[in-house]
Amino acid sequence: MREQLEALRAAALAELGDRASAEQIEAVRVRVLGRGGELTEVMRRMREVPAAERPAIGQLVNQVKREIESRLEALQERQRAAALARSLGEARLDVTLPGARIPRGRLHPLTLVMEQMLDIFASMGFEVAATQDVEDDFHNFEALNFPPDHPAREMQDTFFLPGGMLLRTHTSNGQIRVMQHRKPPLAVVCPGNCYRRDELSVRASPMFGQIEGFMVDRAGRVTMAHLKGVLSEFARAFYGPQTAVRFRASFFPFTEPSAELDISCLLCAGAGCRVCKQSGWTEILGSGMIHPNVLRKVGYDPAEYQGFAFGMGVERQALLKLGVDDMRLFFENDLRFLGQFPSFAARSAS
Ligand SMILES: [Zn+2]
Repeated sequence: MREQLEALRAAALAELGDRASAEQIEAVRVRVLGRGGELTEVMRRMREVPAAERPAIGQLVNQVKREIESRLEALQERQRAAALARSLGEARLDVTLPGARIPRGRLHPLTLVMEQMLDIFASMGFEVAATQDVEDDFHNFEALNFPPDHPAREMQDTFFLPGGMLLRTHTSNGQIRVMQHRKPPLAVVCPGNCYRRDELSVRASPMFGQIEGFMVDRAGRVTMAHLKGVLSEFARAFYGPQTAVRFRASFFPFTEPSAELDISCLLCAGAGCRVCKQSGWTEILGSGMIHPNVLRKVGYDPAEYQGFAFGMGVERQALLKLGVDDMRLFFENDLRFLGQFPSFAARSAS
């Protein structure tokens, strides 16, 4: 049996020369090592070997097996390397070529503007509260001191829904929702979308963003002076430290007294131009001291509590801040337009 093993080894190794093809290698593997192969056959006949010789023969079998296996492995490895070299040579990959650019997503400019506005109010201690778009008459009108026949209800041209509900025409409903459930002191901003029956045009859209804000505390603690301080700080943080502000008396049903805030025109810096109609000023928001009737509607005693509120359009601030002259651009989703506004926001202006 020893001779048989030696012959088997010699034959196999002779066939596994450096030039053996993949097919030859595989044929030797099957013939010698396969199930029913030559070596397997020898091992099966081990019991015919006299017991005294068995260990030596066994050792030889293992040695032959290892030798042939390692030779097979070396040859296969050499062939894999050759195949790799061949394919690399054919493909001629140039690793110095520039790669394919993966387009990067960006936040919508209105989102960036909204986030920066909220950041500024948060830095002054306001918390952010989201409230609902689908609202009832009480929270959108009645609690905000709009009598049933108030012309503002017509003016605002509401989208009414079945069941007496409506799409909110301003984020002021947030003021009512928050105050109803909580007690002062409160300093809250409510961002969100609002809806009015307007055609999409250069200056208007049936859906637009607003930020409502309010601060309420015991009477005497939150005054018109705080309103002016907070909103002046906002205007300078958002539009730049050189921005001039002025408060102009106005009227809203839900505030008394009421004031609109103008900033110096960003184009002419107050000198007067076509955009500001030669006035040098641009209106950015409405504000005022919360009307006692509004406080009563949410269960606050106006003798005990007092506060201010303001509301501003997000698109309006975005048009001014980004120097865009047509609101429709924000809604047309032309990536060439939207991609022009990288994260300018986040704390760059202040
Ligand atoms: Zn101007």
